[in-house]
Amino acid sequence: MNDILDDATPRWRFLEQRMQDVLDRYGYREIRLPVIEQTGLFERSIGEDTDIVSKEMYTFTDRNGDSLTLRPEGTAGCVRAVLQHSLYNGNPLRFWYMGPMFRRERPQKGRTRQFNQIGVEVFGPEGPDVDAELILMCARMWRELGLEGITLQINSLGTPAARLRYRDVLVEYLTDHADQLDDDSRVRLRRNPLRILDSKNPEMQSLINSAPALDAYLDDESQQHFRELQDILKAAGVGFEVNPRLVRGLDYYAKTVFEWITDRLGAQGTICAGGRYDGLVEVFGGKPLPAAGFAMGLERLVEVMGADAAGPDPAPHIYFICAGEHTASAGFALAERLRQELPPLKLVMHCGGGSFKSSFKKADRSGAELALVLGEQELEHKIIGLKYLRQDAPQQQVSWDGLVPLLRAELGL
Ligand code: ATP
Ligand code: MG
Repeated sequence: MNDILDDATPRWRFLEQRMQDVLDRYGYREIRLPVIEQTGLFERSIGEDTDIVSKEMYTFTDRNGDSLTLRPEGTAGCVRAVLQHSLYNGNPLRFWYMGPMFRRERPQKGRTRQFNQIGVEVFGPEGPDVDAELILMCARMWRELGLEGITLQINSLGTPAARLRYRDVLVEYLTDHADQLDDDSRVRLRRNPLRILDSKNPEMQSLINSAPALDAYLDDESQQHFRELQDILKAAGVGFEVNPRLVRGLDYYAKTVFEWITDRLGAQGTICAGGRYDGLVEVFGGKPLPAAGFAMGLERLVEVMGADAAGPDPAPHIYFICAGEHTASAGFALAERLRQELPPLKLVMHCGGGSFKSSFKKADRSGAELALVLGEQELEHKIIGLKYLRQDAPQQQVSWDGLVPLLRAELGL
């Protein structure tokens, strides 16, 4: 679990603001959900034989005996909220949320135990149009962030019935090659064979690549859905690769799955994963309600954004020094006037006294453009000393009344 320190937060805020802006422009609305839910919620939705539920959840017993869990993902809580508040009234629901998720994984580059996601969920529409919308919105996000080299993989899982037929064929193939399965995969072969295709173990890749592909078993309706999705993406100029081995292991997934992958993060290259989960709302006891969504890992995005996307410079415009006795009251009042009249002026007050020399050292270290100095003499004459910290220009004395127009011009506010 990492601290995100002040040298990194400007980049995070830049990322968050750009993303929120795009989500607004597509008509998605923010919801804020609790970080803790009943453990059963995740067991039912994510499934007991997944890594997340079987070994990665932070689960504890509340004082009254309830089993609670720090959320490992946001979809379950979102579906719970939709049902609990009866939000669906026949019109599509377009939601997004942002915040920390918790999984007790083996920490490594691009993989932490607390990480942040933006998640997006749509409820209602069952056509490929919404799937395309989600993907196009992601593509726009990458563009707005100035990211390049992020590729899209898509696949169709078909209906649950089609997947069941495929599952038998896959189990037969994998059983024939049982000697090449790793321990995880042996367990999955019995419980959730599709997830073997999702294995990250390099030694399993050739076996996976030669496995029968799912597309031969797709039903007509799913094929049509998948074709239409591809048509929309092509017409919109979004490149993609069909990866027949892109899967999700759980029964409530249907039809579209997609992932956005970068080659710049090594093994943990997936920055966004999504798909359609038409069966999930029923798992929670709701009436059938088609749904689709995605989640993206913000740590990985911040990492690919690199240092070039530093966000707005957090350095102040002005470092304001009150020197000498009785100057603080007038100084703070004057500083408030500047903040009031010159937004978005960033002004840092020098606090803590000290010598002239040490105050100016702090002014310099603050990164400010200008220092304002209010000493006893200046106070008496209602003027203030203005010193340029980043350019070679003579110090000036400015009247309090002339200060606002001068600063506006000097700082381009
Ligand atoms: P992976 O295959 O990398 O384990 P996942 O299938 O567990 O991913 P999802 O549950 O689909 O991941 O989460 C969506 C995104 O959230 C991932 O693509 C990734 O960007 C990010 N993510 C998931 N787990 C972590 C983690 N432990 N640390 C950082 N980011 C993560
Ligand atoms: Mg994972």
